[in-house]
Amino acid sequence: MEQGILVINAGSSSIKFAVFTDGDRPEPALLFKGQMEGLGSDPSFQVKDATGRKIDERDEWPRGSTLNHAGALRYILSWLEECASDIEIVAAGHRVVHGGLDYDRAVRLDEDVIADLEQLVPLAPLHQPHNLAAIRALAEVAPKLPQVACFDTAFHRTQPRVAQLFALPRALTESGVRRYGFHGLSYEYIAHRLPDTLPEARKVVVAHLGSGASMCALLDGRSIESTMGFTAVDGLPMGTRTGGMDPGVVLYLMQDRGYDAKGLEKLLYKESGLLGVSGVSNDMRDLLESDDPHAAEAVELFVYHIGKHLGALASTLGGLDAVIFTAGIGENAPIVREQVCLGAKWLGIRLDPEANRRGGPRISSVGSPIPVWVIPTNEELMIALHVRDELRAA
Ligand code: ADP
Repeated sequence: MEQGILVINAGSSSIKFAVFTDGDRPEPALLFKGQMEGLGSDPSFQVKDATGRKIDERDEWPRGSTLNHAGALRYILSWLEECASDIEIVAAGHRVVHGGLDYDRAVRLDEDVIADLEQLVPLAPLHQPHNLAAIRALAEVAPKLPQVACFDTAFHRTQPRVAQLFALPRALTESGVRRYGFHGLSYEYIAHRLPDTLPEARKVVVAHLGSGASMCALLDGRSIESTMGFTAVDGLPMGTRTGGMDPGVVLYLMQDRGYDAKGLEKLLYKESGLLGVSGVSNDMRDLLESDDPHAAEAVELFVYHIGKHLGALASTLGGLDAVIFTAGIGENAPIVREQVCLGAKWLGIRLDPEANRRGGPRISSVGSPIPVWVIPTNEELMIALHVRDELRAA
């Protein structure tokens, strides 16, 4: 029987999962990837094999049944027992959005760690409670299974103190109001790939452009700066999030426009970004297909901010040896990459338009002083690697 690692990414109404082998290979190999959606309403389940071929799905549940996190995990585990009976799940790794100041690496979960992570719920109220709900649910469903938390913040704990500070009174900083950075598992994965891909590159900017989007400055594979700060709403405009904005706007909206905290949360996280500016969609595919000028303006704004932050991150690195695009838009939208690279000509970036259309992996021209690459991210594999390290260290 082969041993397997279960990777879990839990949201409010969905659980995405992946299963990797835990053999002697240099890296765990993907076996399945799937998701349970519609938790709390109409559940649906889908699973694909390592090549992306759908191998099972289920939409029909008994009338009125609403699955919670525990019900969904029970179903996923029983599906694995039945349909992958040659795999024994030996541990689970969770994507957890916030590890606060203390967790600078993945950690084996126990009651004390869970209690620490509960304390961080106010710092990530839209994600942390669901991550913890899945951890508690799995402990209930499979009490003996070792569980590991892998944090989106941990990779950024190497940032210099000055990059973590807001210009706020010291007492607030010391109480935890500071810049943490997110998408850390994605950046860690890219950093993990760099020695093979671009062994000479010491100063690298990575653009993780998905429905959540951020950028990170890597110096010798370690994060020294990122565009997201205290929350995942800072930095670039995103699918539905504003990105960085004058905090005075928030004060004005509260004082003069009748917004309260809930209304602001909805505005900043759900109604803004590409969706708010375009009035068309939060999905880059829709915007690129649309002939609405507001859709074009939303794309232009997105590209503008990527270029602006690229310059800022290059300055924090004191130079630039390479640029990497990753995540849904970074991997699949050549026109966005092209616009960013054209705007970054001043940095020495020269695009190979044909390579860019093909999707790379190298999309800069042969003579470009700064290489630009597309590297697909793989946060699930990074989690599986952390779980394997944790099991081996135990
Ligand atoms: P997340 O994991 O943050 O939900 P992804 O990294 O999967 O997001 O990215 C999702 C986004 O990628 C979609 O909203 C869509 O805008 C964009 N995307 C995916 N495929 C394409 C494509 N072929 N062209 C342009 N954009 C794409």
